[in-house]
Amino acid sequence: MAAFGASASHKVDGQLMQRANRAIALALIRRDPATSRASIARETALSPAAVSGIVDHLIREGLVREEPATTTGAVGRRPMRLIFNPAAHVAVGIAVDVRVVTVALVDLGGGVRTAIRAPLPPGASPATVVDWVASAARRALRGVAAGDVVGIGMAVPGLVRWPEGLILLSPNLGWRDVPIRALVEERLGRPVVVDNEVRALALAEHAYGAARGARTAVFIDAAYGVGGAIIIDGGLYRGVRGVAGELGHNIVEPDGARCGCGNRGCLETVASAGGLVARAREALDNGRASVLAAARDALTLDAIVGAARADDPLARDLVTRATAYLGRAAAHAIDNWDPERVVLSGPVVQAGADLFDDVLVAERRSVLDTGHAGVPVVRATLGLDDAKVIGAATLVTAEYLGVPSITSW
Ligand SMILES: [Zn+2]
Repeated sequence: MAAFGASASHKVDGQLMQRANRAIALALIRRDPATSRASIARETALSPAAVSGIVDHLIREGLVREEPATTTGAVGRRPMRLIFNPAAHVAVGIAVDVRVVTVALVDLGGGVRTAIRAPLPPGASPATVVDWVASAARRALRGVAAGDVVGIGMAVPGLVRWPEGLILLSPNLGWRDVPIRALVEERLGRPVVVDNEVRALALAEHAYGAARGARTAVFIDAAYGVGGAIIIDGGLYRGVRGVAGELGHNIVEPDGARCGCGNRGCLETVASAGGLVARAREALDNGRASVLAAARDALTLDAIVGAARADDPLARDLVTRATAYLGRAAAHAIDNWDPERVVLSGPVVQAGADLFDDVLVAERRSVLDTGHAGVPVVRATLGLDDAKVIGAATLVTAEYLGVPSITSW
């Protein structure tokens, strides 16, 4: 890893340089518990004095501690190693999901300390959600010293303009043009970083989960809706209007069902939990026989997946179609972005895991035979309950730690 300022060929802003070198040193320490002052100097070409200045500062911040290395044998001064301390600070994560709102304190290692959850009634207004979120955040922060909190991040479903935190359209919440960032900031009196939930999820999986260490990765999340996110060279790709990655609204069946976005036949209408339930109801109303008929008004994703496993023809058709389109979306992502890996997340992928693999293999054959057909397609590793709220917190912790993920390309 090259340090900034090692060669003075450009006049670089001093503060920016210091910040970049701090981030590089911290990244090395987080990556390898055997890191020492000397190894940082070697890897970065920074002078030992400069490294010591940075490390001393990190120790004063509580982010790093220095302790004797366990393996010694050499005569002389015992080497010291630098250990990252993820418990040093917390961020507040706020995740608004279609069915549940969560506010949590998350440490710098992605560990959830305190989580407060509440069900979100259908049709809840932004004002109701903002009220609840503000009071839950105050409750979570009770007893936490202000200096221990690095910031507040919030993840919401739908098209979100970043960095303004303006929800342009959230079909699954039924919200349009909601300045959610401004509303929450007004209530809490503190800055809040807001982004789309799948981008937050991608940051969490990139920092702590299935995409750790990947320079480039594509995420496909099949939950109540379907969303996507793209990490390129370690940073989120947000696009010109800040809404990149909306692959859930790629049209896969032009004459298909009406989507919440207003178009017809989006991937989301056939491959999301909401889409699967809606398509099952339509088929039942059209007279298709199925064990699902008994539960028509209370249909769930789990019921559909369970019926598919029991070989119910309607449920099997729906799940096969959903997984086929998701497999194709993964194949297209590989063709379009040539990533190191593709990460699939969300309840549809988790619930139907055993039904999913064959279809995925079949669909991946559609990937262009250009040598990248072997790109791994993996499942997310952070639990469904916590992944989005960890992602929300990561929107601010990534910036605090200097991880480039927060940057916009
Ligand atoms: Zn759509």
